[in-house]
Amino acid sequence: MGDCGHPSIEIPFSQRPIIILGAGIIGCAAARQLLFKGFSVTVVAEHLPGDQDISYSSAWAGAAWHAAGGISPEQRHIQAVSYRHLLKMARDEPDSGVCIVDSREYVEQPPSKDSSIWGRTILSKFRDLKPGEYPADFNCGWAYKTVVTDPTRHMPYLRNKIASLGGRFIRKRVEALEELYALFPDSRIFINASGNGSKTLLDVQDQKCFPERGQNVFYRTTKCNTFYFQNGKTYTYIIPRPLSQAVILGGVKQRDNLSPEVDMNIARDEIARAHYLAPEIVPENPPEESLSYIVGIRPSREGGFRLDSEQIGNRLVLSAYGFGGGGYAFSYGIGDVLVKMVETSEKSTVIT
Ligand SMILES: Cc1cc2nc3c(=O)[nH]c(=O)nc-3n(C[C@H](O)[C@H](O)[C@H](O)COP(=O)(O)OP(=O)(O)OC[C@H]3O[C@@H](n4cnc5c(N)ncnc54)[C@H](O)[C@@H]3O)c2cc1C
Repeated sequence: MGDCGHPSIEIPFSQRPIIILGAGIIGCAAARQLLFKGFSVTVVAEHLPGDQDISYSSAWAGAAWHAAGGISPEQRHIQAVSYRHLLKMARDEPDSGVCIVDSREYVEQPPSKDSSIWGRTILSKFRDLKPGEYPADFNCGWAYKTVVTDPTRHMPYLRNKIASLGGRFIRKRVEALEELYALFPDSRIFINASGNGSKTLLDVQDQKCFPERGQNVFYRTTKCNTFYFQNGKTYTYIIPRPLSQAVILGGVKQRDNLSPEVDMNIARDEIARAHYLAPEIVPENPPEESLSYIVGIRPSREGGFRLDSEQIGNRLVLSAYGFGGGGYAFSYGIGDVLVKMVETSEKSTVIT
């Protein structure tokens, strides 16, 4: 009891570290946003920024910001918030590896209201392409500015940013969230940002999660300032990496395929599709010495990503995983939603 007869609070809310499981773009973006708000954060993960394991999706992404089709208005807003943060990093923080680039999107069918057309409400310099500006076998096309993130620069940037704001990383594999509860008995908030790990964590076992293999061609070229995108009967992108003088050619999605081997048939097909979209950038037969290959596993989830909170005993567990091919496009928007959830919990601890 305190002097006035009120029970004293041993550890105030803000001093109980928030524990994040997962150091991919989702866990690290959440850590950065929470640290900016003054919370104490510890990130626990088997793979940390800088690692290159095939299952650590964030190391291998393209990673372009593209408006996703088929998502709810709330999810669109999360993407919009993410775009805002990435744009600011591109302008103010050159070491973040985020760049503003031109874009050309080619559309096969007249766009429905549910399609990626909503991107025009937030992307700068959005305009319809005129016939002749896009290949004749497409229905229409759009030009706009978007942001691309180079994960080989962005993940180390995040590692340094989180550390400089006082965040802590612990390299550790856990088999269940319960292990974390035992390791951090004072903590009340746990964020599960474990990507595909959520399929096997013993107290999560989310059977909607599935691995989805991606394989890209990394082509070194000085023509690396325009993003090309076609998402319809085929799923083809050319993602520029201006800081590395290269472009990423893709894509492919192979459910439940975990092979680390480069499939040269896929690579040849991706080069051919990219050449069709942008022959001025990708020649029919790029020199072999200018090519290398990227293989990574996306953390996909049937029905889309999970983002919610659950009270488990005296702990709040926030789940943020299953972002498939869009983790970078959602990243900082998700971070901000998680901050709001934490602040809501904080508010409930204030005596009213
Ligand atoms: C080829 C390719 C191209 C892509 N292109 C794009 C793109 O253009 N735009 C875009 O937005 N996205 C793109 N993505 C998708 C993007 O990479 C993912 O959505 C994103 O990286 C997912 O981040 P995450 O943090 O959820 O998961 P991950 O990056 O996989 O991180 C999961 C973390 O959880 C940890 N973990 C898991 N289980 C455990 C456990 N049991 N114990 C301890 N730690 C654990 C891991 O070690 C890791 O730190 C692409 C992906 C691929 C593969």
